[in-house]
Amino acid sequence: MQIFNPVKAILEKDAVKNHKSLMNFSGKCALIVTGRNSAKKTGALYDVLDVLKEHGKEWIIFDEVTENPGFDLITKGLDFLGSKKADAVIGIGGGSPIDASKAISVLHANRNSSFEDIYKNPNLEAVPVFAVPTTSGTGSEMTQYSVLTNKDNVKSGFTNFNTFPKVSFVDPKYTLDMPWNITLSTAVDAFSHSAEGYMCISADSYIKNIAENSMKAVKENLENIKNKDSLELRTGLSFGSMTAGYVISHTGTVLPHSLGYGLTSEYGIKHGLATFLFIIPVLKRLYDKNIKFDFVNNIFGSLKNMENYFDKLEINDYRVKISDEHIDLFSERVSKSGHVLKTPGNFTKKDIEELYLEVSL
Ligand code: NAP
Ligand code: ZN
Repeated sequence: MQIFNPVKAILEKDAVKNHKSLMNFSGKCALIVTGRNSAKKTGALYDVLDVLKEHGKEWIIFDEVTENPGFDLITKGLDFLGSKKADAVIGIGGGSPIDASKAISVLHANRNSSFEDIYKNPNLEAVPVFAVPTTSGTGSEMTQYSVLTNKDNVKSGFTNFNTFPKVSFVDPKYTLDMPWNITLSTAVDAFSHSAEGYMCISADSYIKNIAENSMKAVKENLENIKNKDSLELRTGLSFGSMTAGYVISHTGTVLPHSLGYGLTSEYGIKHGLATFLFIIPVLKRLYDKNIKFDFVNNIFGSLKNMENYFDKLEINDYRVKISDEHIDLFSERVSKSGHVLKTPGNFTKKDIEELYLEVSL
């Protein structure tokens, strides 16, 4: 058994304000990486700026991160920084800005390195990364991963052990006004991380325990938020996201994540929903092979109940018709991915094609 996750993570309302001394770094200037609006709208950006001001730091704000950041976007961020030196990179927003921060951090610390290099070498140096999530799902605040879209419009993650955030300030108040579709997509992303971590062939009882608690938190809080939002329920989802991130920082993700990537890149389905569409179909296939998981009964009572729970949340409304060409292309790609090797059940290319056909309208 091996455990390694060096992130100092704080889950608390007003986390940035309450732990000012932790939003600090040696050197003078921070690069702040955000999306267009939510960092400002939620107030997260201003909380960070207030603290940097108190510490006498300077900052540069790159606020152009879009969903599913691509290589071009990362290059744009580096060009924006130009010859200036960033001593820390602070990602504020959903998984996209936090992942972009990690990529910019590594490429800024290794100015002669290429994207190919960062995918090959998980130990390249990086500028310290700080994370301030405004969604509750990707777990990027707890991981050494950054998922980018390459020039061929293919999503894939790179690992860099120096991009585990130095500190993650997880303040659930930033997620209070998140619309239902983003709440649902990010919550089922967290659920999928823990479910996949649990399914992973290398998962031990320590990781399974954390994964089960994480899924329980998502289940119990998500179903209530639709009726009556509250900081307490949002804190539950942030807990689900962080713990699920902790899980995948040890196991990585398995088959459903690699199945979902094509639906996001080619059909625009949000990452969490695209992944979750495959969770129950994959579980059913494993159950048919008599490969079962205790978390299903412990949390839902049965696989059928689990299916009903998510049906009620209308997850299946997000399905699309997947073209035959894409089914062919995605199945080929997924069958060669490392995710399959970490998934029990020996899924073949034919099984994978069948999963796409099952999820397609
Ligand atoms: P996101 O792509 O970061 O953001 C999606 C949308 O949500 C954006 O329009 C964003 O607006 C908005 N938003 C963010 N916070 C909000 C808030 N509090 N209220 C209202 N709107 C808000 O979404 P995400 O699902 O968090 O991240 C998905 C990305 O993370 C994918 O690229 C996925 O592959 C990656 N991921 C990474 C890991 C990892 O371990 N590194 C794991 C899973 C997924 P703005 O643009 O204005 O900010
Ligand atoms: Zn994910």
